[in-house]
Amino acid sequence: MTKIRWTSGILAQKQREYTTMRVPLSGRITSEQMDKMADIAERDGKGIVLLTIRKSIEIPWIKYDQSLKVQRELQQAKLEIGSCGRSVRTVVRCASTGRCPFEVIDVEKKYQEITDRYYGKSTPTKFKTSVSGCANACANPYINDFGIVGKAHPRIDFSKCDKCYKCVEACKGGVFATEDGIPEVEGAITQEAITIGEDGMPRIDYDKCIDCGWCISNCPPGALGAERVGYGIYVGGRGGRYPKFAHEVARFVSEVELFRILEGTIEYFRKFAEGRERLVLVLERLGIEHYKEHVLKED
Ligand code: SF4
Ligand code: SF4
Ligand code: SF4
Repeated sequence: MTKIRWTSGILAQKQREYTTMRVPLSGRITSEQMDKMADIAERDGKGIVLLTIRKSIEIPWIKYDQSLKVQRELQQAKLEIGSCGRSVRTVVRCASTGRCPFEVIDVEKKYQEITDRYYGKSTPTKFKTSVSGCANACANPYINDFGIVGKAHPRIDFSKCDKCYKCVEACKGGVFATEDGIPEVEGAITQEAITIGEDGMPRIDYDKCIDCGWCISNCPPGALGAERVGYGIYVGGRGGRYPKFAHEVARFVSEVELFRILEGTIEYFRKFAEGRERLVLVLERLGIEHYKEHVLKED
């Protein structure tokens, strides 16, 4: 019988004659792929699948000697098993994928680029990455080794402003109709970063602003625009037994900077981790300033 590597995406069960197949999806699956997984679960498992916290699907109760056959069948449906062991794990994305009204970056594109460049690369122990399309941060960037949040920095063109003050309401989490007859969209933030100045014009307090971009989407004449679109970066978080929030290491960077910092963080992790330390422990031992010195500082 072929010996299976447990780090390959075929997981050991406590019932030793059975395995669980892990299919990393990051929350997106076609209807045909769902049918295929349902067929396999029905035929080779116990008719159930499990949804993981990282938006993958696992099919449990596959007989050990059927695992490789099932893997091949999944591959034919463009479903690769994996996301195990000492490597860059599945990149988790928020559920935006081009349809969420709050999205300010192209989540799907960023997810794909990061996956193509880094998924499966060797690291001292697991390295988890997450991409959220806006400051609402639905993909839990703060409990990942590397969290990314899309940001849109607002700027008002006063010559176009008609003093409707919808931006003021938007920044308080106000409710707006999108089109006649279409349900309203409620803002998710309550920042109150926009107030009305003595001249009657709206004013943005950039110390309070979190660059969510919601005021921009809700300015009827387009007086509010995104001066810059970029990324917030959070490093060294984790969930699990000893949860820890990540450090905000960059509040707003360009796409080029994002990849420089991601690449640098993986190199830093490889260089300074002792044994199977998670990044969070490396940062606790060496300090966040050590990380910044090695990764953020430009030559
Ligand atoms: S993080 Fe923002 S863009 Fe992504 S699903 Fe949540 S609200 Fe939508
Ligand atoms: S929503 Fe736009 S037009 Fe209305 S007050 Fe704000 S900036 Fe001016
Ligand atoms: S981008 Fe800033 S000012 Fe605009 S709604 Fe968000 S927090 Fe408020």
